[in-house]
Amino acid sequence: MNSNEQRIDKLHKEAPLTDMHCHPSLKSWLFKRNLWRHYCSWSFTWPWSSRCDFKMLEKGKVGVIWTSHYMPERQIVKQCCLTRIIIFLLTPIYWKLVKGSYMKCTLQMMDRFEKQINRKPDRVELAKSAEDVKRIRALGKIAAVHTIEGGHILEGNVDNLNILAERGVALLTLTHFFRNEIGSQVDISKGIDSFKFMKICGYNFHQDEPPHLTEFGYAVIERMKELSMIIDVCHLTHEARNLVFKLIKGKTPIIASHTGVAKFNPNPYSLNDNEILEIHKSKGGIGVIFMNAFLKEETKQKDGLDLIWSTMNHINKVTKSWDNVMIGSDFDGLTDPPNDVVDSSQFGNLTRYLIKKGLSDDIIKKILGGNAQRILEKGWKKN
Ligand SMILES: [Zn+2]
Repeated sequence: MNSNEQRIDKLHKEAPLTDMHCHPSLKSWLFKRNLWRHYCSWSFTWPWSSRCDFKMLEKGKVGVIWTSHYMPERQIVKQCCLTRIIIFLLTPIYWKLVKGSYMKCTLQMMDRFEKQINRKPDRVELAKSAEDVKRIRALGKIAAVHTIEGGHILEGNVDNLNILAERGVALLTLTHFFRNEIGSQVDISKGIDSFKFMKICGYNFHQDEPPHLTEFGYAVIERMKELSMIIDVCHLTHEARNLVFKLIKGKTPIIASHTGVAKFNPNPYSLNDNEILEIHKSKGGIGVIFMNAFLKEETKQKDGLDLIWSTMNHINKVTKSWDNVMIGSDFDGLTDPPNDVVDSSQFGNLTRYLIKKGLSDDIIKKILGGNAQRILEKGWKKN
């Protein structure tokens, strides 16, 4: 191993390298998959890919994953005939997507993920606090943190947050593709090329309907503050994000877990400069997504490191610091990853790129994982 590769290894270990938004549990639950096996990482959207299974994470020397458990919204199957037919042909998963309560299914998904972890407890362990992450890392293992994407899984019952907190969930992304009981979300088919197909499918997003945060949404935020859970504003409309910023008043870190910036992709999903500053004021973080369609408007570019860098650098320019830049790959969601980082085993390419840009080791460590650890310590419940 040459000295540059040794430096990369050291940086990954010391940061520790953290992906704050990835979905290993989704396909493991849908297809009853073994997370200790690698299936494929093709560099295009492929539902059967496995980009962040434990093999790829270990290969990329990833130290911490914030595992985003996502229970697909029923509207995905119900509102589009074509999707319904395709998914019906995959009968075992069809019933998982149309039956049962969201909350129950999410708990099952978490159970399965924990079972996969427990198969090799000497290599991966579930962390239930920021201190736990440190302890697990000191043992040289991957620390997995439970997070949830989509407040629809609460099913309008704020007490479900207590159940999630008890299970060790650190963060909730308040909305997802469709409007839910909490509030309004961005229409993902607007402005992001890879999701334009959803418009053709005729999905009804009920986007932008006031109120942007409902009474239930306010109650959720209040309870999350009490339980010391981290709020993720990704997928919310700008109006709803601003309401969250006002409610939190910079007192606890706010996250945007997987996104790009409006400077390079001016669509409603991206963060504008004001929002970047609000997250900075809260001492929160922005996970830069590894998907070119989010990072640049109408791009055919297949390599992504230049775009990831431009986004990171823009956040740095706006905030005049590197304290809010993080990695939120979105691997194993509905992602079309860049050619130069197709899965978690290739995070070293980003580190190599940041070294080439002349960043100091201290700054690189912040981006790779230092910021993530600081946010967990400040924003997550203390055990
Ligand atoms: Zn998402």
